[in-house]
Amino acid sequence: MARVQLDDVVKRYDDVTAVDNMNLEIRDGEFVVLVGPSGCGKSTTMETVAGLTHPTSGTVNIGDREVTRLPPKDRGISMVFQNIALFPHMDVYDNISFGLRLREYEKAEIDERVERAASVVQMEGMLDRMPDAMSGGQRQRVAIARAIVREPEVFLMDEPLANLDAKLRVTMRTELQRLHKELDTTIIYVTHNQAEAMTMADRIAVLNAGHLQQIDPPLVCYNEPSNLFVAGFIGSPSMNFARGEVTNDGYRSVNGHLGIEFDPMDAGVQPDQSVTLGVRPEDVYPVADAESADEPSDPVAVTSDVLEPMGDEIFVYLLTNPDADVDLEDQNADNQLLMSVSPDSDIEADEEMDVVFDRSKIHLFDGDSGDAIVHGITNLSTGAGSGTAEAEGDD
Ligand code: ADP
Repeated sequence: MARVQLDDVVKRYDDVTAVDNMNLEIRDGEFVVLVGPSGCGKSTTMETVAGLTHPTSGTVNIGDREVTRLPPKDRGISMVFQNIALFPHMDVYDNISFGLRLREYEKAEIDERVERAASVVQMEGMLDRMPDAMSGGQRQRVAIARAIVREPEVFLMDEPLANLDAKLRVTMRTELQRLHKELDTTIIYVTHNQAEAMTMADRIAVLNAGHLQQIDPPLVCYNEPSNLFVAGFIGSPSMNFARGEVTNDGYRSVNGHLGIEFDPMDAGVQPDQSVTLGVRPEDVYPVADAESADEPSDPVAVTSDVLEPMGDEIFVYLLTNPDADVDLEDQNADNQLLMSVSPDSDIEADEEMDVVFDRSKIHLFDGDSGDAIVHGITNLSTGAGSGTAEAEGDD
């Protein structure tokens, strides 16, 4: 087990800055997942920890050692990658033990370690199996056992489940969590798969354009995203956003379709300040279900557009002004909202209705920097009663 620390790490390739001033501390025994869109610097960050690439500047520490310029083999790490490269002519035992044999460990020690590693990945009875007689999941487990057998201080895993089919990915997710518990090892894991990040991580590190945006437990990233990028990236489908500005008594969206009443002072904003409102699809309710919201906002008049039944929920696209000639591609305007409702809802397409937001789940972001200002516009000014009691709707 070891702590991993990146201080001011920059990695430049010609004119591309792949990692930009990264400061990241991964605690002893922690499972940290790096997420972000393709090209945001996840793999490069991982490679600087692995020693597969050297940072342009900055330092990398593993445990209490600086390893910035050390080769991978001297860092006490093991890696598992997306492309499982087992030796095809070797059985499971030989594949797992390859590194130990290369380092000329005693046979008894090798046997003991292979057995232990194989049992962790539940491949005990299959040590003489050849790679071509195994499923993708079994091969991946052998690759993990090969990493475990070296008893590293830190595991680095770069999309290790990406090539597996969906069902197997879910099984392997659980196995990796069990493995983490059992080995108590520090794990740094790269994925672009949100479900993997949300379910496995102790903390998620969200990257964008080489910058660390937020590092927090999954639910903190979900409920208290530090900025617009994290708010839009974490959660599927994505959070609804609506640009607007602060008025004397709350928020009004660009085209005036959405309004939320609150005391600007209490929310830490100024009248005329440009802000973006964010609310997740599951925090939007048909007015008939308003009591399901902790604190329903004033109703907003909408018309349902497209419905997407997902089985366990229905996504309802709502238009705030169906007659307007608006650009629905402009996701941050106030023209369209996505609402998630229960599968037994009888909402139909082209239905006029009122919806409310759960005020306790409304986020405000600064219109310029995108930084979060407040999570939850609860009854800021009076601290009593519900949001609906304060003002009769102007819709
Ligand atoms: P991710 O893993 O998040 O998809 P990467 O770390 O692979 O992102 O890449 C980050 C950026 O650095 C990208 O713009 C990528 O094109 C660039 N990059 C990565 N490796 C190299 C390289 N060896 N040479 C030049 N550019 C690179």
